[in-house]
Amino acid sequence: MQTYRLYIDGEWIDTGTRYEVRNPANGEAIAECAVAGEAELNAAVDAAARAFPEWAARSYEERGELLRAVAQGIKARYEEFALAETQETGRCLRETLAHDIPAAIAVFEYFAGIAPATLGETIPVPGMYLNYTRREPYGVVGAITPWNFPLWLAAIKIAPALAVGNTMVLKPAPTTPITALMLAEVMHQAGIPAGVFNVLTDPTPATIGDLLTRHPKVRKVSFTGSTAVGVRVMQNAATHIAPVSLELGGKSPFLVFADADFDRALAHALLANYFAQGQMCTAATRIFVERPLYERFRDAFVARAQRLQIGDPLDPTTEFATLHKREQLEKTEFYVRAALEEGAKLLAGGRRLTEPPFDKGFYFAPTVLEEVQPTMRVACDEIFGPVAMLMPFEGEAEAVRLANNTDYGLAAGVWTQDIGKALRVAHQIEAGKVWVNCYNMIPPQAPYGGYKLSGFGRELGLHCLLDLYTQVKNVQVDLSPDYFEWFG
Ligand code: NAD
Repeated sequence: MQTYRLYIDGEWIDTGTRYEVRNPANGEAIAECAVAGEAELNAAVDAAARAFPEWAARSYEERGELLRAVAQGIKARYEEFALAETQETGRCLRETLAHDIPAAIAVFEYFAGIAPATLGETIPVPGMYLNYTRREPYGVVGAITPWNFPLWLAAIKIAPALAVGNTMVLKPAPTTPITALMLAEVMHQAGIPAGVFNVLTDPTPATIGDLLTRHPKVRKVSFTGSTAVGVRVMQNAATHIAPVSLELGGKSPFLVFADADFDRALAHALLANYFAQGQMCTAATRIFVERPLYERFRDAFVARAQRLQIGDPLDPTTEFATLHKREQLEKTEFYVRAALEEGAKLLAGGRRLTEPPFDKGFYFAPTVLEEVQPTMRVACDEIFGPVAMLMPFEGEAEAVRLANNTDYGLAAGVWTQDIGKALRVAHQIEAGKVWVNCYNMIPPQAPYGGYKLSGFGRELGLHCLLDLYTQVKNVQVDLSPDYFEWFG
């Protein structure tokens, strides 16, 4: 079992107190991590604040070169990262190998090159003046990440924030700190200077997060997690007027029109619900199918959901594994029970898997419901588990109305071969990301973020450099030979 310390100011710090991180698939302890307290939090923020002027003064090229070296460092430990991410999250190895690790590498490579595109402008103003803007970093960014895609979600904060000259203190989720600490090792070896990046671990969800988001030297807060915690983070940051970006929960719609490419829509609907056992912010749990196609699509979806290969996340043939934690299992169970009590019909799954070897994890069968009313709790709240709901609709207007009938607005899928219809619907959907004839594509080049209760601010793409990690300075220079006396 590996022991990890905190990473502060380029050094590995032991606090004398440790906690165990466990593999959700079998309950075995996989690592021991140091417990950070207020002293370590202050030390990390101070280190990041000290490192900021020198880091911000470096050229884009120098910082880009170091971020490229980080990408190389992850590549060199590719399988080790995938294994660690699988063991700490409980997600399938085939997912972490094929998705999470390459996605994190791509993010570092992209932001290593794109940062100089944060151009300023010259602004024509009356009189003999030169007026121009500069994009400048904030200083210390306090970053907080959830447990479901721990490496990639950290990467999409670290790479852009550092590329434009900020420094960072990262607090990963208590149950998935290992990949963040491995990343700190990689960043250290790549030559990222001391203090530029710091990682604090802690078994309680809120202690370090609260201190970090309230810390007056933290000039920008970047949060990914649940909407409930997002509210608290925003309140904390308000105490010292730190700008916040919030990537929060979702209840995304997946609209299948009768003319959709059936096989592709079906394959993506399964992916949108059962990848990561449904523990995705973008999970498209509300599947609306146009009436003429409804029964055929429903039957095929149920058959495929029942065929998913459930097993040990480390087995490369496993398609569906354990949920991440007991609370998640109980929450999933609660919502399915409530749905059935409220009149929904169970088509597949709907139960814990308790027979060996599943008894050691938090396994819940891939679940499909129908006859779900939009007012039922299962249709309104984010479950963050493998619960798909199938509902018929008639025509474009009803599709849009049903899709938007949610407090969330993270993502949506639209399936039709009529491009005009696809774009009309895409434009009317209240969500920050709409996928047409595909789902869950999150390239580093394109902005990503939510509407409504799903948050605000856009991660990834040039947008995040402009909106999240730089602030605008305007400089006005007097070019006139004359001057103006106000007094006397
Ligand atoms: P969570 O909100 O419980 O925790 C997220 C992080 O916040 C953790 O690191 C946790 O320790 C920390 N935290 C808890 N209380 C805090 C406080 N008071 N102050 C500061 N930090 C605090 O979420 P989770 O269960 O880890 O992850 C699941 C949630 O994350 C879901 O709602 C999911 O939709 C969301 N999510 C959103 C995105 C996105 O990009 N929009 C991506 C992944 C996950």
